Amino acid sequence: MRTCHRCDTEMIEDFDVKVEGGAYGIKIAKGTGVFAKRIGKPKVAVCPNCGEISLYIEDVDKLQTAQL
Ligand SMILES: [Zn+2]
Repeated sequence: MRTCHRCDTEMIEDFDVKVEGGAYGIKIAKGTGVFAKRIGKPKVAVCPNCGEISLYIEDVDKLQTAQL
């Protein structure tokens, strides 16, 4: 469960990030080019009270291995 940093309300999770006008999502990676370490697709949580959004990565294990 994620809690809003601003108002302490329980956030609604698991929204996808999309670029407006296309079906593209975004990825979080470290480095550039072919050898970029892809950490994974970010998800979004939204606070139903104040509208704060929070990006997060579900697979935190991948994040550990990307920090080589
Ligand atoms: Zn909030």
